Amino acid sequence: PLVLGIETSCDETGVGIVRGRTLLADAVASSVEEHARFGGVVPEVASRAHLEAMVPTIQRACDTAGVALTDVDAIAVTHGPGLAGALLVGVASAKALALSLDKPIYGVNHLAAHVAVDQLEHGPLPEPCLALLVSGGHSSLLRVTDITGDDGGVDPMGATIDDAAGEAFDKVARLLGLPFPGGPHIDRAAREGDQVAIDFPRGLTGRRDLERHRFDFSFSGLKTAVARWVEARERSGEPVPVADVAASFQEAVCDVLVRKALDAASSEGIEDLMIGGGVAANSRLRALAEERAGRLGIRVRVPRPGLCTDNGAMVAALGATMVERGRRPSPLDLPADSSLPVTEVLAG
Ligand code: ATP
Ligand code: MG
Ligand code: FE
Repeated sequence: PLVLGIETSCDETGVGIVRGRTLLADAVASSVEEHARFGGVVPEVASRAHLEAMVPTIQRACDTAGVALTDVDAIAVTHGPGLAGALLVGVASAKALALSLDKPIYGVNHLAAHVAVDQLEHGPLPEPCLALLVSGGHSSLLRVTDITGDDGGVDPMGATIDDAAGEAFDKVARLLGLPFPGGPHIDRAAREGDQVAIDFPRGLTGRRDLERHRFDFSFSGLKTAVARWVEARERSGEPVPVADVAASFQEAVCDVLVRKALDAASSEGIEDLMIGGGVAANSRLRALAEERAGRLGIRVRVPRPGLCTDNGAMVAALGATMVERGRRPSPLDLPADSSLPVTEVLAG
């Protein structure tokens, strides 16, 4: 099926077009520069930017794909989770398209789409698989038996109990005077640094924590540890070794993410690890996962970095899977749901 997907959950206006698992277009307009000076995404600014970018971005996707809107078989849209006002722009646009083209609409879960997108690059999703979802707002381990969510197909095994991994990257970057969003800047700075220079804490990996939180994450203690370390340096009048701090912090995050993801996969007898979400673009996370999984006979799949951060192609990919598996489309009055749980993959 030819599916057009719309993504507006945060600050990226994404419109993707796929034919089955073939990516035809992935147009993204980001308002990130408008937010940078505030050090975080400003919801009202994001909503307005989506409004302005929507029609040109749809146009651009159609041009790139060489298709007319009337060729499209179905419209998919992120209906949650995310910023309420931002989501509304995407949902309203998708409804207008579906209604005027007389095509079905699929309201899908942004988080499941972060996992489903890998099909565009590496073929059908292995099911069951263990998904490590790491993004700006979420860090979870999911047991995926059916990415469309049917019959508990997306089953959370654990999640962060405080900050998300991406949030930790962004906060530590700010501390180091790096621009927002900080993830890519930490990644770059870390390449010049020594990852064993500073021994930062690995959250929820102690023996007692593992009893209750074996598959959960915690990054706020790490963030505080970095802040204290940097403050102590500044007080002593010595320069802060940004590259070493970045590399050591990044190592602490990636070590825990990979360790717990592989533990979860092994404990379930699952041989495929999928990594998705913005933080999956991190070069150290990708390398470490590859390295350690190989030893356990676990295969790792991570989409290329451009498909890890928010985009419309991921929504189109999940929409196409819904169509292929005969899932019933969503009602035309489907709501935007800012706190949609990851288990609810398709709006019913
Ligand atoms: P969610 O998907 O939870 O709703 P989001 O959509 O806002 O959150 P994504 O676009 O999926 O988030 O991911 C953005 C996050 O990914 C940011 O926190 C950003 O710093 C982080 N990120 C992007 N690239 C990298 C990288 N190379 N290394 C580490 N983090 C990165
Ligand atoms: Mg973004
Ligand atoms: Fe996202």
